[in-house]
Amino acid sequence: MHISYQERSVSLLLPTWLTLLIRSGGYRLRGLLFCLTLWGAAVFAPASYASSFPYRLQIDNSALLFSLLILVLVIGGGLLTLLLHHLDAGSYRRLHGQLTLMPTAVAVVRKKDGHLVYGNKSCRQLLGVRKLNDRYLYPDDLSEQMLCDFLRPFAGLKNFKEVNEALPQGNGKMIPLLISGLSIRCQWQSCWLLFIDSPRASHCEQVKLENEQRIFQQVLNSLSELVYFKDKSGELIGTNKAFDRFWRGRIEEGIAEEQGRRSIGNSAAHTWTTAPDGSSRLLETNFNLLLGDSGEAIGTLSISHDVTDWHEMQEVLKSEIEKREVTEQELAQRNTLLDTILSASRDPIALYNEHGVYVGCNEPFARSLGYTQQSLLGRSSADVLEPDKLELFRQTDQQVIQQGISVKTDDYVILEDGTPIWYEVLKSPYRNPTDGTTGVLMMARDVTERKMAEQQLADAIMELQELSFVDSLTKVANRRSFDEQLRKMWYSHIREKNPLTLILCDIDYFKAFNDNYGHQQGDFALREVAKVLRSVVKRETDEVARYGGEEFAFLLPNTSLAGGEVVAAAIHRALAEKGLTHSYSDIAPTLTVSLGVATLIPLPNQDYGKLVELADVALYRAKAAGRNCTMTMSEKEAS
Ligand code: GH3
Ligand code: MG
Ligand code: MG
Repeated sequence: MHISYQERSVSLLLPTWLTLLIRSGGYRLRGLLFCLTLWGAAVFAPASYASSFPYRLQIDNSALLFSLLILVLVIGGGLLTLLLHHLDAGSYRRLHGQLTLMPTAVAVVRKKDGHLVYGNKSCRQLLGVRKLNDRYLYPDDLSEQMLCDFLRPFAGLKNFKEVNEALPQGNGKMIPLLISGLSIRCQWQSCWLLFIDSPRASHCEQVKLENEQRIFQQVLNSLSELVYFKDKSGELIGTNKAFDRFWRGRIEEGIAEEQGRRSIGNSAAHTWTTAPDGSSRLLETNFNLLLGDSGEAIGTLSISHDVTDWHEMQEVLKSEIEKREVTEQELAQRNTLLDTILSASRDPIALYNEHGVYVGCNEPFARSLGYTQQSLLGRSSADVLEPDKLELFRQTDQQVIQQGISVKTDDYVILEDGTPIWYEVLKSPYRNPTDGTTGVLMMARDVTERKMAEQQLADAIMELQELSFVDSLTKVANRRSFDEQLRKMWYSHIREKNPLTLILCDIDYFKAFNDNYGHQQGDFALREVAKVLRSVVKRETDEVARYGGEEFAFLLPNTSLAGGEVVAAAIHRALAEKGLTHSYSDIAPTLTVSLGVATLIPLPNQDYGKLVELADVALYRAKAAGRNCTMTMSEKEAS
């Protein structure tokens, strides 16, 4: 069979055209190719048909008509195709227009490869989809393969609803999403129309959120501060009750902000304004920038406090401080004056409070207590004074503080180097002008010299007194003392009606002693006799006195004549025991005495001379009786 050139061309071109027709991308190009195919078929088919037909026919009118018919069909088919494509493009544009401003994120994804055909504005914000001319591109972390994997289970379905899936958000974060899908045809291709939404809060969560908002509002309302907040566009979105009350009818004034304030993070601004009651109030306002999770500014918060009282208090405080500074200056001047006086004085001066704590002193005072000025200040007198001295000081201090009078005392201290010092101390009440506490101002004067002179004088007086009452040779009481004692005893015995005994004692042959042994030896003998006589007297009230040259007297209160005789016997015995040699005595080889004892119960009208008289008589009798013996005289004998 002969195959013509046209037949070979058709057999080669036809598959090529068909391939182009199937694989070509755009619907316009595909339509054009389709039209050309039909036209080609219309032109070549009749010819081929005619040539291959066993009965070769010449192209005649019927063939021409057939060709024309085919041409009309081709053009009609092409026009129909173009119309269909136009309708498809129109519906896509409408879809595009409707979805673009939809608040829900919507995407059209090609089923076969996950290619993103379209993504509306919300989708672009939610997933980070980019638009480049007419093309839509996934963000870097979201791939077509991921969409294919997600959509694979729904192949064959017409739609699916609210499937949870976590997809990258564009900033790298995976967010849980609710995705619903509707199978559509778009641009002659099978696609998924996806509605993507953030998961809605559950009802409980919704209620919880509303409660939290209510609590938050109540908390705000309970605040006395004036609070309002705005969104980032500057629109007022919330206030609390305090704010509403204060700024009622003039909200604009309340939210008026000076330029620049808002730029400062947490700066405070002070503004004088008028309160609803007409009073002037000072508000301190803090502006805070409200930040979102990503640190972006989402609004501002303003909190105002009424600081008028605080401000007035500050003013009062300021004037008080100024006054105080003036007082402190005056006080400092006074202190300087006081310090000058203290340091200039050589006399010890100290100030201590009612608890005995030293609040001021000069160096001489501190030195008198063994301290330095600095180490003594702040210490208590209880820490530095001896307990007995402290007690004495406390008594006078109480007198000074409680009665508010000045008190003079004497004080005696021994310095560290052993020097004794007498002080005449003047204590005066003291009142601290700053805190009103009381204390004592103590000024001491060194009177050691005067005290020494007084002491010497006292010693001299004492010595003199001793001299006037004591016999200088024998150291027993002298005649004057004896007379004084006798007088006292006499009258006390009149009152008590008790016997009073007097013993007069005279050394025998003492002139001979003196003459032979010498006067000095005589004095020595007198002293020795006196010692013996003193040793005889046992009672405290008994008294021995030198009555005359070699005569002694014993005054024995509340003693009877018999008692006197006992003492007399003891005198003789003691002298004998002593054995003071007297080779020139006619009665014994040792010193002896004669004793005259007299006893009386004195009467009110009697003179004490009576007793002496009786004793003298008794002594005379003892001499007369030969010496070294005792004679007695009682009132009966005398009468
Ligand atoms: P008679 O036994 O009678 O008492 O004889 P008498 O010598 O003791 O007495 P008379 O009165 O004659 O002498 C007293 C003497 O005592 C005289 C004097 O020498 C002596 N005499 C008196 N006073 C002192 C004195 O203070 N010192 C000395 N050494 N002798 C004195
Ligand atoms: Mg004599
Ligand atoms: Mg004598």
